[in-house]
Amino acid sequence: MEKHILSKSTFIRGNQCLKSLYLNKKRPFLRDRISPGQRAKFSRGHKIGDMAQQLFPGGIDMRPKSPSQYQKRVLEVQHIINTNMHEVIYEVSFQYDQLLAILDILVKGNDGWTAFEVKSSLGISDTYILDAAFQYYVITNSGLQLNDFFLIHIDPDYEFEGQPEIDKLFKKASVLDEVLKLQEYVKEQAAREKEALKLEKSPAIEPDGHCIKPYPCDFMGHCWKKIPLEQRPQVSYGSEKFYDFLKKIQ
Ligand code: SF4
Repeated sequence: MEKHILSKSTFIRGNQCLKSLYLNKKRPFLRDRISPGQRAKFSRGHKIGDMAQQLFPGGIDMRPKSPSQYQKRVLEVQHIINTNMHEVIYEVSFQYDQLLAILDILVKGNDGWTAFEVKSSLGISDTYILDAAFQYYVITNSGLQLNDFFLIHIDPDYEFEGQPEIDKLFKKASVLDEVLKLQEYVKEQAAREKEALKLEKSPAIEPDGHCIKPYPCDFMGHCWKKIPLEQRPQVSYGSEKFYDFLKKIQ
């Protein structure tokens, strides 16, 4: 199997800015450094995904141990699905047309397979829906039909003391209707991003408000270096209140 060109995160990066996608692939040394504090916040967010697996216990974890395992995992997942070996699978790799999607949780019910993607957030954003649409596009075109696609996020109204109950901590929301409407867009945007990666020079994109939406770009130090500090957008890596909430449950 050929190596993938785009993953879910690079697809979302390219959707925000084709230059960011290009620099990330071809000039990664230009990326801004992340402070230890920011890194700690990101890793707390990643642990939420592991907690949400307890909503569907007893599954097999197919998380690739390194990037070199991605395509091997895709084939192993295909085998597990084709032979009905497991009904719950975590960190499930799929590939189609050199696009790689690693889904958090895949569950087989009486009517077929349902996808669940976990978000370390208190709600659902347009970017999360686009990210789900990318995964749905890859999974279904690789040959697996899905009954539904859910995003799982933290219930902002759940109040607790000590350790939370997992089934009350998380909320599930079907985003299938929105995801289906975005399938053509995902196809076209993936083609645009693949073309951008073939360029000899980075795309000529001027820095502006898109550099912080939906995420602060990690090439701002490079692109904004000639612009006075006071004219640069204010970067936020998430609310302190939310990270305090994450600390409480871990
Ligand atoms: S800083 Fe802005 S223009 Fe530069 S790569 Fe990032 S998003 Fe694109």
